[in-house]
Amino acid sequence: MPEPLNFDVAIIGGGIAGVSIARELSQYSINVAVIERHDDVGLESTSTNHNLVCQGGDSLSFRPGTLHAELNIKSIPLWPKLADELNFPLKKVGGLWLIRDKADFKRYLRLYSRAFKSSLEPNAPYYIPEGSFQPLEFVNRKQLLDMEPYVMPNALGALYDPNLCITDPIKVAKALAENAKANGVEFLLKQEVIKIERQGITYSIYTRQGLIIKSTFVINASGIEVDRVAEMVGARNFSIVPLKGTLTDFDEEVGKLISHEVHVLPRMEDLPHVKAVLPNIYGFARSGIYLELTYKSDKAVREEAVNHNIKVAKELFPEIPFERHIVKSFTGFMAYTNADTGWHDFVVDIPDYVPNWINIVLGPAGVSASPMLGKKVIELLIQSGLRLEPKKGFDPRARRSVSS
Ligand SMILES: Cc1cc2nc3c(=O)[nH]c(=O)nc-3n(C[C@H](O)[C@H](O)[C@H](O)COP(=O)(O)OP(=O)(O)OC[C@H]3O[C@@H](n4cnc5c(N)ncnc54)[C@H](O)[C@@H]3O)c2cc1C
Repeated sequence: MPEPLNFDVAIIGGGIAGVSIARELSQYSINVAVIERHDDVGLESTSTNHNLVCQGGDSLSFRPGTLHAELNIKSIPLWPKLADELNFPLKKVGGLWLIRDKADFKRYLRLYSRAFKSSLEPNAPYYIPEGSFQPLEFVNRKQLLDMEPYVMPNALGALYDPNLCITDPIKVAKALAENAKANGVEFLLKQEVIKIERQGITYSIYTRQGLIIKSTFVINASGIEVDRVAEMVGARNFSIVPLKGTLTDFDEEVGKLISHEVHVLPRMEDLPHVKAVLPNIYGFARSGIYLELTYKSDKAVREEAVNHNIKVAKELFPEIPFERHIVKSFTGFMAYTNADTGWHDFVVDIPDYVPNWINIVLGPAGVSASPMLGKKVIELLIQSGLRLEPKKGFDPRARRSVSS
């Protein structure tokens, strides 16, 4: 039996959730470990998504009162500071929600007033001080065509979200992890958690590779495996379904013709898929999402999904010959909660009967919400009795490689 490694907090999973929490905790004088089964961080859901952050306009479709809406909206003003400290790419592109007819306009008006209720009025639940969030605005057809000359010419206008940014989530995850490591967090890579035992309030975490990690607090940030890991200690107080999304990338020839994220509200016949096209940080364009409920192991790219993504791109930008500029298509998974009611929400929660254990389920817009996630977890840890003393010498910019 190897000697156990002892920590105050063990984080299972080195995706955006795990590394954001690790970086937040690295500001305090405690021993923290991140346990990740791959040889680097950010290689699962964090690396296979739309790359959007600061999703203010998208927050329109988040139900007010959910953690999903709260963490996303509160994260918007935190992104520029984070990008500056950690030197990762962050580009404000803005989002355009196209208005195709009067019905779209009515739906946007309703969502628009809801967004204001959520965040922009001083007595709103997630009020964001003036200056850190630019209000959404309606633009007419002429303004729309000035902003996006190749967009569908019959659009009446758009609801414009000036806050929306694109980034490279893998770089963000690496930067957060490297900063956490430079500030004392231990990264146990190539370690897959296969068994967990609880003795009182001490957890013993066993990995397939033979490590035993003992910790007083455990944060289960294992992405699509969150239910399986929670079940190891009887801490599954939620249910998720694995939602697979297929995205398609197009080359720079197409990328240079698209400046904003262009999106339409799905109609009944579009569901469950998302109709969006956006530039990426390296000059490509990305289209999708073709969504499927399937098994976690089903990572295949289906022809039907790629055809859908090309069709969506051509619907939004009819003059651009997307089919001649395909670079690749790929799939990613998100954990979707409350599939029965259709209202997804994040889970950031301590199950009543399993002390010192926090389950994290993100799902849609989880990267966007990650700056606030770390702060939320700190609140829960303090409530659970963890004493957090600020660490002298915490350096918000320092970096140390985690994969060597
Ligand atoms: C198609 C698509 C588009 C999306 N677009 C966006 C977007 O534009 N903006 C946005 O904000 N969000 C988007 N999302 C959602 C976003 O990708 C997720 O919310 C986010 O990446 C979830 O991060 P995570 O850390 O919870 O999970 P992950 O990134 O999956 O990390 C979990 C980690 O846990 C590790 N792990 C699992 N089990 C074990 C174990 N037993 N032992 C050790 N390690 C383990 C895994 O290896 C993995 O590294 C999108 C998702 C999809 C699928």
